[in-house]
Order: sequence, then C-alpha cells, then structure tokens
Amino acid sequence: MKVVENLSIIKENIEAACKKSDRNPSDIQIIAVTKYVTAERAEEALEAGVIHLGENRDEGLIEKWNSLNNRAIWHFIGSLQTRKVKNIIDKVTYIHSLDRLSLAEEINKRADKPVLCFVQVNVSGEQSKHGINPEDVLNFIHNLKDYKNIKVIGLMTMAPLTEDEEIIRQSFRGLKELQMTVKALQLDYAPCHELSMGMSNDYTIAIEEGATFVRIGTSLVG
Ligand SMILES: *Cc1c(COP(=O)(O)O)cnc(C)c1O
Repeated sequence: MKVVENLSIIKENIEAACKKSDRNPSDIQIIAVTKYVTAERAEEALEAGVIHLGENRDEGLIEKWNSLNNRAIWHFIGSLQTRKVKNIIDKVTYIHSLDRLSLAEEINKRADKPVLCFVQVNVSGEQSKHGINPEDVLNFIHNLKDYKNIKVIGLMTMAPLTEDEEIIRQSFRGLKELQMTVKALQLDYAPCHELSMGMSNDYTIAIEEGATFVRIGTSLVG
C-alpha cells in the first residue's frame, strides 16, 4: 500500500479515538518509524504529509538523515548506547529513550542546545523492557536539574506484549498519571506536557489514554 493510503486510514482511526475521548486530533503528532524501510519509503512518508521521522538505531538514522535531513524532524526512539550519542546528537530534535543518568550526562555534554527528551518508563514491569521503574521516575527527574541541555518534555512507554487491551490500557493510564504528577511540579527543566505512547497495534488505545506522540512503523510505512 502507498504511505498516503495508510496515512489516511490511520488519520481516520485517530479521529475516531479522539471523538471517543473528547480530544482534538491536532494535539496528536504522528511519528513515522522508518526502521524497517528504505530512505525512499521514508521520503514517501514526507510526501504524504508526515513531518516526524523516528529511528531506533544510529546507522538507520544517519542513512536516512543523509538523504532527507532538514525535510524532517528527527526522533531517536530506541534504547541508546552512551557511546552512540555523538553520532546522532546533531541530527535529532527528540530523544524518546532517556533511561539513565549516564546517558543524560553524555547527551548534556555532546549537545550544543537543549534536546527535547522523553524519560522512558517501564510501566508494565516486564523484565525485557528498558525504562525506569515508575516509583523511581520522580527521583530520576530531580537528578536531571543540572543538565542544561536536557529538557524533559514528557514520558514514553512501550505497552506490554499482550493481546489483552485492558492490560495495555492500564499501562498507558499509568504513564499518564505519572506525567501529570511530574507536570504538576512545574519544573522549568521538566515541563513534561507530552506523552509518547502507542505503536501500530495499540495507538488508538494510547490516544484514548492521552498520547500526544504516536510512533507508528508497520501500519504506516511497512
Ligand atoms: C519499532 C518501534 C515502534 C514502531 O513499531 P510498529 O509496531 O512497527 O508500529 C515504535 N516505538 C519503538 C520504540 C520502536 O522500536
């Protein structure tokens, strides 16, 4: 399928989820996750009207950035090794996987302006998942206050691997509650007004539960 066709289906689904939850579709940004596809396919997404592209490996990001660079806004969405920060830092606007202080320190050191970061939270507690435990998030965020190039604009999670919609919904709801707790602190380095949650199989649930960025690969670009 053409990206433009996939996108129009996704937009309809987003509208329906917004109706159900009394939200405005313009408050939701679609990130096309291009990790499985070529730069040409990523370009097709831009031509269809997507502006945000996401990659989870430095090689993939650099390859696509080299051909598309300032035509897109770039998101790093996967777990990020500290030693790879220098490869991507001048290319990305957003990092969705801030999950440890050593990574914050490296981002802070390598960036020459504030990077918009999501703190990744392991809401479901699955051992295989990256991210900070929910009970440690507030402490972690407090520890970021001296890093002038880190701006915590929100929280990110990946739903647990299950078909059970209720379990998926609970994990998104848990992230939203944490996000509101952090936001209420009104920290200038951690405004925390965004929620990065929802992928191909669960983005409508995520939107019903408050997502502002959805990260869609398979069902948008393949
Ligand atoms: C791959 C990936 C996605 C997109 O997954 P799809 O199921 O293909 O939509 C979203 N977020 C992260 C962190 C990913 O690694």
